[in-house]
Amino acid sequence: MNHSSVINRQKQPPKERTEDESGGGPIAGIYLPGVAATVTRRAGNKLLENTDIRVSLGCRIDSCSGSVRGPAEDPRRHYLHARAQEMATMLERPAAWRPTLEVDRLRQANNLRRRVNKYYMDDDIKELKTRTLMSLINGIEEQRQAS
Ligand SMILES: [Zn+2]
Repeated sequence: MNHSSVINRQKQPPKERTEDESGGGPIAGIYLPGVAATVTRRAGNKLLENTDIRVSLGCRIDSCSGSVRGPAEDPRRHYLHARAQEMATMLERPAAWRPTLEVDRLRQANNLRRRVNKYYMDDDIKELKTRTLMSLINGIEEQRQAS
């Protein structure tokens, strides 16, 4: 860890408030289950408005079930039910199957990230990192083969 860069960052003045930050401090970005990533509100809004890809990215749980824009309308509530669902899906499988399930989920997320990077990047939609997911996938696979 580079301490001087952390300290330098702390010395910088707080960022100017944007329209995305109203009153009670910064509002989190939007978690998109399809890519297993949280993106900025602006990027999330754009992607959820895109009829080509929004169904793959979005969410159908509780408050999100009525609208593809659900994750953008209540990002915090959406984040919690989306992550809870991912955990529940994992835990309802026998322990021996969980690595396979997780690798599948990460693979799909990775493929979708690549698709977003290839076709939908713009000033607001930044490149989604794929390296960390790939190394997670490889790590799980290695462990599975070893056991
Ligand atoms: Zn949701």
